[in-house]
Amino acid sequence: MRKKPTRKPTIRKLTDSALRTWVAGLIRRQRVIGVQADGERFAFKPLTRAEDLRLDYDVTKIPPKKLFQPAAEPLLEYDQAANYRSIFETEPFVLFGVHPYDMVAILQMDQVFSEKHCDAHYFARRQNATIVVCDVQKASPNVFAGCMGTATIRKGYDVLMTRVGGHYVVEAGSPKGEALMEGLKNRPEADEASLHRREQVWEDNAKFLVRHTLRMKPAEIPALLQRSEDHPVWEEKAARCFSCGSCNLVCPTCYCFDVRDDVKWDLQGGMRRRYWDGCMLLNFANVAGGHNFRKNRADRYRHRYYRKGLYVPAKLGGEISCVGCGRCITACVSKIANPVEIYNRLLEER
Ligand code: SF4
Ligand code: SF4
Repeated sequence: MRKKPTRKPTIRKLTDSALRTWVAGLIRRQRVIGVQADGERFAFKPLTRAEDLRLDYDVTKIPPKKLFQPAAEPLLEYDQAANYRSIFETEPFVLFGVHPYDMVAILQMDQVFSEKHCDAHYFARRQNATIVVCDVQKASPNVFAGCMGTATIRKGYDVLMTRVGGHYVVEAGSPKGEALMEGLKNRPEADEASLHRREQVWEDNAKFLVRHTLRMKPAEIPALLQRSEDHPVWEEKAARCFSCGSCNLVCPTCYCFDVRDDVKWDLQGGMRRRYWDGCMLLNFANVAGGHNFRKNRADRYRHRYYRKGLYVPAKLGGEISCVGCGRCITACVSKIANPVEIYNRLLEER
């Protein structure tokens, strides 16, 4: 049988004003979530005006995971007669301006939430999203994506945008992306010079998104952790840990949740919801009978690193569950949550 020729993806060149016109058109037709200023920092929020979109941001406070797994999420309603109704969010939306490292984290979540039992609530949102990735234009204070191989991305997005000089190169990465770029069909195709400059941006980002230097390859982390269980660093750092869980909650690859039933006052029914949870919180490992199998702060502190560098990679074919966004480093008031510092120290001493 003759192989079907593969279609070349659409790649266009876009000026700033053409970008605004495109985004304004998208906003008129559907729900668009985009990166916007939020005080002195940045956040993914519903976009109502194209001019509020900020593709020059460094990092958002909370990763885009909140769009697929919200911090508090209704799962189902039930009544006393055991009738229940599952709740799914199915409104299509465009997620605009995701950085490559956050896209890598979303692809990891796709694997985790489809493992064994597919999570219908997560995928209801995920399948309705069209994701526009934008290459990083400004390094955040603690990013180390360049060390984790996540500074750039070549697959998994619907559209990829890269700022080259005074314009953007915009490439479709999926049929959904091609459909989104229908609105750009009158814009010029990207020329050779722009594509060449895009390659240069990718090379530069891999080199420069390194505010902390990991002195090993990410693939070496699991074996390093396997021989470091009794290292003194766990007790030493945990002595300054407040167990606040901020490092978990800002992390794009943390996905743990707690399911709770909120029963109506008259006991006639209720709502089942799930909420973000975090392994650094004291009650995270509480089980029936009031037993807590990680009551010790150092055990929780060490567990976070083992989870990211050993346990989850075993599920993800070796991929480390840290994309180097640096959010945990910024969020930790105690300044003890830097994964690079821990891994480098273990490497020196083990
Ligand atoms: S562990 Fe820290 S640096 Fe790594 S992905 Fe999570 S928040 Fe980002
Ligand atoms: S953010 Fe810092 S203080 Fe809070 S739980 Fe994480 S390591 Fe501990």
